Amino acid sequence: MKPKNTSVLLIYTGGTIGMVPNSETGALQNFSLEQLQRHIPELQKLNFRIDTYQFDPPMDSSDMNPGAWQHLVRVISERYAEYNGFVVLHGTDTMAFTASALSFMLEGLDKPVILTGSQLPIGVLRTDGKENLLTSLEIASATHSDGSPLVPEVCIYFENHLLRGNRTTKMSAENFNAFRSFNYPPLATAGIHIKYDYMLIRRPMPGRLRPHLRLDDNVAVLKLFPGIRREVVESLFGTPGLRAVVLETYGSGNAPREDWLLDSLRSAAGRGIVVVNITQCCAGTVEMGRYETGYRLKQAGVVCGYDSTTESAVTKLMFLLGEDCTPGEIRERMQQSLAGEITV
Ligand code: ASP
Repeated sequence: MKPKNTSVLLIYTGGTIGMVPNSETGALQNFSLEQLQRHIPELQKLNFRIDTYQFDPPMDSSDMNPGAWQHLVRVISERYAEYNGFVVLHGTDTMAFTASALSFMLEGLDKPVILTGSQLPIGVLRTDGKENLLTSLEIASATHSDGSPLVPEVCIYFENHLLRGNRTTKMSAENFNAFRSFNYPPLATAGIHIKYDYMLIRRPMPGRLRPHLRLDDNVAVLKLFPGIRREVVESLFGTPGLRAVVLETYGSGNAPREDWLLDSLRSAAGRGIVVVNITQCCAGTVEMGRYETGYRLKQAGVVCGYDSTTESAVTKLMFLLGEDCTPGEIRERMQQSLAGEITV
C-alpha cells in the first residue's frame, strides 16, 4: 500500500521515447505529454498522482548540455517538497552523463530521481518505452512501510534493471538492454516483482536537499591509443582556459612511458590542470602503483580515478570546478566518493 497523496513528477526532456511517427510522412517527431496518456492508457491504473513538466522544445539528448542540467535541477529542487519522486524521460545517447551530473548537483537527495527512455518510440508496436516508463514510475513512488522512499538516489531504469546513475554507461545502440553498470551491481531487477537489493542502495545523509547550479565546462577527455602524437596531446593541454582532463588510459591505468607525455602531464599539473586517470576498460579499476607505467603517471601528478566511468568523471570535474574548489581540493575530492560514483 502506498501512502495517501503519493505523487510523482514526470519530466519530459525529449529523446526517442517521446517521438511518434507522423502519420503522413512516417518521420519521427516529438509529441506532447498529453499524447502520452493515449499511448499508455495503463498510466491511469497507477494508484498515485502523476504531474508532468515538459522541456520546450524537447531535446534530442545529443544536444544535452550543462544549461539543461541546471534547468533540470531547478525544476526538481523547486518542486521537491511536493512529490515523492521524479521520473525524467531522456534520450539514451547522453542519459548516463545527465544521471551523473544530477547525482552531484542534487546534494542531500533523499527522494528517487529515475531517468529512463527507450530504444523504440512509444508509438511503435514493439516499444520498450512502455515498460521502462511504467516501472520507473513504480520505483519513483515506492516507499518503505514508514513512508520513506525506497530508492533515494539518481538512477537509470532500463530493460528490467535499476542502475545507479553515476555508474552507468550506454553500451548498445541496438539492443533494448542498452545500459550497463560494470563496477556496481544493479540496485533492483524487475521481473514479475521488482526485487530491490537494499544493501546496495544509498542511505540518504541527514539534512536538506542542497541543489548546486554552477558547473564549469573547461574540461576535456583524452583517450590514449598506440601512436598518439605529441602535437595532439600538447595542443589539448594548451587549450586556453582548460582546467581539468579525464585521461583514458589502458588496463589498470597505464600509459606509454614517452618522456614528452610525462613532461606534458607534469607541466599541466604545474599549471593547476587536474588530470584524472580513468581506464578505457569497461570493468575494473585504476591502480596506479601496479605497473611502472601507471606509477610514472602518479609521479607526474595524475590523480587516480579508481573505477569511475568517463561520464561520471567529466561531470564530477565540472561540478567541482563550478564550486570554485582549488586544484588541490579537486584532486582530493576526485579520490573520494561523493554520491557512490567510485569504490575507493
Ligand atoms: N538520439 C536519441 C537521444 O538520445 C536517441 C534515444 O533517445 O535513444 O535523444
